[in-house]
Amino acid sequence: MTVVFAKRALLTTGWAEQVRVKLRGGKIDAIITQAKAEPEDQRVDALLPALANLHSHSFQRAMAGMTEYRMAGRDSFWTWRDLMYRFTAHLTPDQIEAIAALVFLEMQESGYASVGEFHYLHHQKDGSPYDNLSEHSDRIMAAAAQTGIGLTHLPVLYSYAGVGKRPLEPGQKRFGNDVDQFCTLVEQARSCAEALPADCRVGIAPHSLRATAPDDLARILEAQTKGCPIHIHIAEQPKEVQEVLAGLGARPVEWLLENAPVDQNWCLIHATHMTSKETLAMAASGAVAGLCPVTEANLGDGPFNGAAYLEARGAFGVGSDSNVLVSLTEELRVLEYSQRLRDLSRNVLVRGEGSVGHALYTGAAQGGARALGRDAGEIAVGHWADLVAVDTTQPSLCALREDQLLDGLVFAAKDEVVTDLWSAGRHSVVGGRHVARDQIIARYRKAIGDLLEQIR
Ligand code: ZN
Repeated sequence: MTVVFAKRALLTTGWAEQVRVKLRGGKIDAIITQAKAEPEDQRVDALLPALANLHSHSFQRAMAGMTEYRMAGRDSFWTWRDLMYRFTAHLTPDQIEAIAALVFLEMQESGYASVGEFHYLHHQKDGSPYDNLSEHSDRIMAAAAQTGIGLTHLPVLYSYAGVGKRPLEPGQKRFGNDVDQFCTLVEQARSCAEALPADCRVGIAPHSLRATAPDDLARILEAQTKGCPIHIHIAEQPKEVQEVLAGLGARPVEWLLENAPVDQNWCLIHATHMTSKETLAMAASGAVAGLCPVTEANLGDGPFNGAAYLEARGAFGVGSDSNVLVSLTEELRVLEYSQRLRDLSRNVLVRGEGSVGHALYTGAAQGGARALGRDAGEIAVGHWADLVAVDTTQPSLCALREDQLLDGLVFAAKDEVVTDLWSAGRHSVVGGRHVARDQIIARYRKAIGDLLEQIR
């Protein structure tokens, strides 16, 4: 049995001191406060529940920094997407695995214990399926196994280029499946996942109301859910809202809530452009808002309707989406700052009075775990041991009282304060470094070198 001894730990009842957390079979087996450390205990400073990163397209990490050059005319989300398609045309299975391992390492070093990988790049370069239909899903799982991150794998149904069953464009041919082929792919991914640790899950992800048609959505919900996580991109861009309104007769979030059994198993990614009515209805549905503030800022999506959603007790979590930057503290900070910039106010994302850092961190911990279908999000007996330790003696945190520590983490610190991370008890980050860092980075450098040669 592993025992973690923390000078202080954030439990469900608040901060406790001198805490021994016993881990067994990847889960938290016992918590003892006001305890003495035993010689074999793994000692840390402050222990927190580690967050889930609820939305990632890992391969996009390899194009970070390549799309920030202003070109004549107006750059937009849609020109970014064109570049992403040119990039995806060349990726090989080995490269996909190497990039995913790098991204998962970066997530763990920044304090995320788990990831929801929203995976839509399925097929060979010419668009035909591999002999092994779930080849790329298997590679994502191999990267998860190598890094130790807790994976909720989300194979994506991507069938059309737009509302009204517009056929896929050439740049989308590696993404496409019909419902039957998609169901086979999900079943194969599920059998591959059996070789992974027990906290690995496979959900489903209808890509969006643009790429998944209403009748197909109904069919995959019928065939594939069984209580698993269901993720969908929704209302990210005004153009998408207009397209869905014109084609389906309602705004995206409005349409989904009226036409699909949205509940706490669902995660609605972005949900940026909502009316007040949609905001309240989504909060009441129990679905998690999958917010990706750094990517949403990078792509010019817009700010989330945060204050009204939180007031209505809506659940939320954060994801790194395009992975242009993988940073847990930055993600939470940009989420709050986007609200302050829009509203010309301070301390927005907390209900009533209280610590914004605490509300953001604990809200994202619980919402993220729910979105990934993962018993986690709190340090509590019976939950997966998703734990992160931070060094509160660092200059950015050492002046703060206990009740200010999460404000310090979110607003004043960088991810470097993370010393240790466990994903379902797997101790992947020690002394601020991932245990397989050197191999994973060497393999990434080789993969990216090969890829750039192909693209040139
Ligand atoms: Zn996304």
